[in-house]
Amino acid sequence: MDTQTSNIETIDITKLREEFPILSRKISGEPIAYFDNAATSQKPLSVINAISEYYETINSNVHRGIHTLSEEATEAYENSREKARKFINAQNTGEIVFVKGTTEGINLVASSFGSKVVGEGDEVIISEMEHHSNLVPWQKLCESKNAKLKFIPVNDKGELITDEFRKMINEKTKLISLVYISNSLGTVNPVSEIIETAHSFNVPVVLDAAQAAPHMKIDVQKLDCDFLAFSGHKMYGPTGIGILFGKEKHLESMPPYQYGGEMIKSVTYDKTVFNVLPYKFEAGTPNIAGAIVLGTAVDFIERLGHENIHNREMQLLTYANQLFGEIGDIRIIGTAENKTCLISFIINGIHPYDTGSILDNLGIAVRTGFHCTQPLIEQRFRLPGTVRASFAFYNTFEEIDRLAAGLSKVKSMFL
Ligand code: PMP
Repeated sequence: MDTQTSNIETIDITKLREEFPILSRKISGEPIAYFDNAATSQKPLSVINAISEYYETINSNVHRGIHTLSEEATEAYENSREKARKFINAQNTGEIVFVKGTTEGINLVASSFGSKVVGEGDEVIISEMEHHSNLVPWQKLCESKNAKLKFIPVNDKGELITDEFRKMINEKTKLISLVYISNSLGTVNPVSEIIETAHSFNVPVVLDAAQAAPHMKIDVQKLDCDFLAFSGHKMYGPTGIGILFGKEKHLESMPPYQYGGEMIKSVTYDKTVFNVLPYKFEAGTPNIAGAIVLGTAVDFIERLGHENIHNREMQLLTYANQLFGEIGDIRIIGTAENKTCLISFIINGIHPYDTGSILDNLGIAVRTGFHCTQPLIEQRFRLPGTVRASFAFYNTFEEIDRLAAGLSKVKSMFL
């Protein structure tokens, strides 16, 4: 298929790819075909350049100085917070906390909010498809509180069994934390429906939006979620920065997660008064460059448009599904009706690592293993791992042709 062909009517994919210098690299003598976007996306020049521009022009500590550089850095940092607020349609910037990423965001909620609302004999609900970063913090919290962690089951297509969820929730449930889009199955979960049910029991809901942020418009007011976390590096931004959204009423009621500079209003030898939101949760010098450049990544996504990104990615997914079907002997793990642009699979009888390393020799980057969802892959689906090809709008139909040819080669070598 022609690499120029795209449904992004206003954007030329070949030109857009030129904004991503890494996509012109060669691996094993072949042009790289990067299908590991769910692990981290590649970065456009606007993001790469914004990092050096920050250090070249306004590097200074934020919120601390009256000198010009500090004021400029603070302004850029706070402008970026406002962009993040708009990006997810939060009510005010007090609800936008800069964190390292999704993992830190969820740990913050589990440690500060979770410790407050979960007690002995209580229950927390997550699902069988959670990433370790939305499982281990709740497991540890429940262990320490003598509370019970319950899992919404997943059917064979990789969808949540919502009927079971409705049977599970009761007056002991204190919190629900759920992945919006599964990183190993691609399933887009019916989070609005779950939030509505949860709220009818007065139970707050945390959303892990790590995979949602790059692929769909998030509206926290429409969703009515209580907390939501995502990472910059999966949405074309830098590593080490992400956002935790929390409803103001919750954040106000929570104790700080860490103590130190920035998060205080006043300190005496005897007592500390904490800062206002969101600074109460931003102890120490933050990742200033990362936070500012997250705003550049938001600009990039908005320039492309969510709908354009979605349409292009669905075209790539449909094409890949068609080719995978033609190869045969491929079992796809995760065939939900509502699915994002990734395919987790195994070629019958072939270990995922063998498939992954042969593809690497052909310049094709896929991920193999548990994808940080070991219980889901090993206990629920009883597999030693899967191969995961995760797409971004900058992937081409020609790259998918190469992936399919690579898989046929793997098959001919082992079967
Ligand atoms: N949740 C999901 C669904 C993810 O895909 C990831 C990253 N693989 C995370 C959480 C953790 O994100 P991070 O490592 O950026 O904190």
